[in-house]
Amino acid sequence: MFRTRFAPSPTGPLHLGHAYSALLAHDTARQKNGEFLLRIDDLDQSRARVHWEQQIYDDLRWLGISWDSPVRRQSEHFEDYAAALNQLREKNLTFECQCSRRDIETAANAPQEGVPDFGPDGRIYPGTCRTLALSSNKTTCTRLNMKAACSTGLPASFIETGLDQTSSQEVNIDDLIATVGDVVLARREMTASYHLSVVIDDAACGVSHVIRGHDLFDATRIHVLLQSLLGLSTPEYHHHRLIRDEDGKRLAKRDDARAIAKYRAEGATPQDIRAMVGL
Ligand code: GLU
Repeated sequence: MFRTRFAPSPTGPLHLGHAYSALLAHDTARQKNGEFLLRIDDLDQSRARVHWEQQIYDDLRWLGISWDSPVRRQSEHFEDYAAALNQLREKNLTFECQCSRRDIETAANAPQEGVPDFGPDGRIYPGTCRTLALSSNKTTCTRLNMKAACSTGLPASFIETGLDQTSSQEVNIDDLIATVGDVVLARREMTASYHLSVVIDDAACGVSHVIRGHDLFDATRIHVLLQSLLGLSTPEYHHHRLIRDEDGKRLAKRDDARAIAKYRAEGATPQDIRAMVGL
């Protein structure tokens, strides 16, 4: 069964980039006689707002999008994420970290030649707490020990259909260690990071195909590694082109000027939106 999903965060208005992603996933599911699911990524409760969630439903319905199961809200699944984190802890693949953002910047201030500072998950963690065996009650976050994780979870690969040609993408250990590092899996104030939650959610919903923006292509290596470590199957991935503004910049949440609600208010039709995003 072909099953895909759209997973917006209710932290601002949906814009043309979201419309493209949602319509593409929805149209593909319908063409394939599959299912289209809607998930609300409200993991970050400090930024999620109920009125943005309501507007997501309104905008999607207006675009002609219907979803097949009840909406899954991440905020209703914190226990699932905590259980997955525990599985990784029990396998000794995590460590507790007490570094503040400033500690990480300071420790990373002596860059080594040829070693990148930033990866898809932000600044690459310099490893300060990796061997300290800190207890979780005083720390700020839990990180994946990337080296240990790779030796347990690899080899792993995923099928990518969004590039010029469908290809199998090998997840590479050296690459992950050098360009991603010890990613955050949970924070004191947040049960799970985006990477951990998305992997659990897609598996729990039986998502067979993930259709999302190309900005998440680099992070997919992390997701595939986590799937392998947690014994979850890997969906196929289609990372689509990004909708950009006139200056070539990718649209962001703050691009209210391109909010679907604004076009609606100005009298645009769903067909106009499709035309604007090239569908
Ligand atoms: N919630 C994520 C976002 O709005 C999307 C997650 C995903 O598609 O994997 O960027």
